[in-house]
Parts: sequence; structure tokens; C-alpha cells
Amino acid sequence: MANGKVKERDYYEVLGVSRNATNDELKKAYRKLALKYHPDKNPGDKTAEQRFKEAANAYGVLSDQKKREMYDSRGSAGLDDMGFHGFESSADIFSNFGDIFGDIFGKRSYRDRTGPQKGSDLRHDITISFTDAALGSERQLRFTKSEACDACNGTGAKNGAPPVCPQCNGTGHISGQQTSVRSFYACPNCSGSGRKIDNPCNTCNGEGRVTKTRSLSVKIPAGINNGSTLKLSGQGEAGVRGGRAGDLYIHVKTASHPYFERDGLNIRYDAHIPFTKAALGGEIEIPTLNGKATLKIPKCTQSHQTLRMAGLGIKTKDGRKGNQLVRTIIDMPKKLSERQEELLKELDKLEKD
Ligand SMILES: [Zn+2]
Ligand SMILES: [Zn+2]
Repeated sequence: MANGKVKERDYYEVLGVSRNATNDELKKAYRKLALKYHPDKNPGDKTAEQRFKEAANAYGVLSDQKKREMYDSRGSAGLDDMGFHGFESSADIFSNFGDIFGDIFGKRSYRDRTGPQKGSDLRHDITISFTDAALGSERQLRFTKSEACDACNGTGAKNGAPPVCPQCNGTGHISGQQTSVRSFYACPNCSGSGRKIDNPCNTCNGEGRVTKTRSLSVKIPAGINNGSTLKLSGQGEAGVRGGRAGDLYIHVKTASHPYFERDGLNIRYDAHIPFTKAALGGEIEIPTLNGKATLKIPKCTQSHQTLRMAGLGIKTKDGRKGNQLVRTIIDMPKKLSERQEELLKELDKLEKD
């Protein structure tokens, strides 16, 4: 072959699967072959190395929907047109199918120790007033957390350049032919992380992160319920070695109100009404979330009747609207003047007739 490739066997045949094999079947078949022909198990065996690459190429194509369709219709010529020429080295294969090897060789465990790690999540508790919860508000939070170091862009290296290990070109693996020690495919120069910092950043001592006090403004949505949690993605602790930042969880407690009560998006309120106004009808002023409003009292309003002030409850951002629900408490006079007593007696007589 002009390009040095050995004559290729049919990919389905290589993996020993049927032409309509599912992705799971492909993965299983590939894992089995990868385990069998892994260079770790067959040091210096050229045939095993060939089989190892062959299986990776077959899996690389068949596990990719587009490449598989192309291969099914036009064979490897179609793949060449797509720019897929197979894997050149074992290191290539490890960096592409690391996940699969991880399960077999425990690679994931050492990678987790030295590779990128997501930053920790943070939790912050706040208590907001009843009105802030109902109307929505903004809160300024101050807290200390680790952040990516500005001086080195979070890389930990003095010049801020990505600290790629020169020995393994950042893959974390050395192919079996280069060394014969047992841990050979974890690069000894970087312990498999693919990162090697020769000149650590002075500001963060090569950590890539520093502790800072931050203030953050948090928007509280209108109508938030007591005990809700707001999630601010990426506002937790900075990741380690280029890992993504954690998240910030804000637990929100809402205080009670001296005279309002929440009922979903509705606001409940007890209004005291003089008995004469309840009987004759009229208007009273009622406090609402947005200041005072006038409520019409119908004639002959009973005690513990609920009057609805439409649309004066909580309004959410997505357009839902609650009402203010006013419960009537009819107040009797605490004492009567002579004239009042006279009129009431007259009224009493009328009712008896
Ligand atoms: Zn390395
Ligand atoms: Zn730094």
C-alpha cells in the first residue's frame, strides 16, 4: 500500500458483529478486542498492535453515525473523502477512546487525581422580606471563593500558556513501544495528566486558582416561594487544572408579613369594615403590594366574605397574575352615642315588624 496501510478487513468482520449491530454491541465487541490486543498485554507484538489499531479504526467508524452510513454505502473510499484516515498511533487511540479504556484499565481513577476537576459547588442562604419575594428584587451577595488566577489565566503556568506536557504532547499516554515499565501508558513526566508546569505562576503557586472575596448581584424572581433554591451555574469555586467552575446554590427563605399572607400567587388580607359600611355599602382603602387601592364594599356585605381585587396579587415574569383576596371582618362599634342608640332601636323595631 502506498500509504503504508495494510489491506483493510471489513469493519464489521473485524469487530465480529452483524451489519445491524447496535452501538452497545459495537462497544462491547470493541472493548473485548481492545483488552485482548492492548499493548500493555502484548509488549513488542507487532500483530497484536496491528489488531489493536484495526479494532480501534473499525469502532471509530461504526460508532459514528455519519461515518457508518458513509462506510455502508461507499466503503473506505467514502471515508477517505470524509478525511478519516484511521488512527496513526496507540496514543491517538487512547486519547480518543479513553473512556472505554478507563473502565478496563482503571485509567479514569488516575486521571481523576491529576486531570481537570470541576470546582466545588457553593451554598449560600439568604432571607428576604415578604415584599421582595412577592415583587422580585435584587440581592448583593458577598462571599469568598476560589477563582481562576488572572495572572496565568487559570493555567498555573507562569507565562499563562497551556501547560502541555512535552513528553506525551498532552495526551497523558506513552505508547507501549517507547518504554517497558509497567505504568508505561501513563506518561511518567506528567503522571498521566498531560499537563506539566515547568515555571509555576507566582501568584497562585501553580494552583491556577486564588481565593477572592466577590460580590455578586442575584436577581430574585417575583413570586419566589419560601424554601426555593436558585442555581447560578459556574459561580461556584473555580475548577482545578482547567476543570469547569462549580455552581452556586442560593437557598431562599422568605419572611412573613405583618398583615399579608401568600396563597400561591394570591395575596390574602383581612379588612376591618364598620358594620354600617358593610350594611350600606361603600368604599375603603386597602393596602396592596403596590400601595393603597380602593375596594368597593357591596351593600349588605357579610362577615368573612371574600372580596377579590383582580390582578393585584403577584405578577410573575412569565405573565401569570394573582389576585388580592380580601376577607371582610365586620367591626361593631365599641360604644354608642345616645343618637346612635336611638337610631339602632328604631332599626330593631323595623326588623321586628
Ligand atoms: Zn506527559
Ligand atoms: Zn496563577
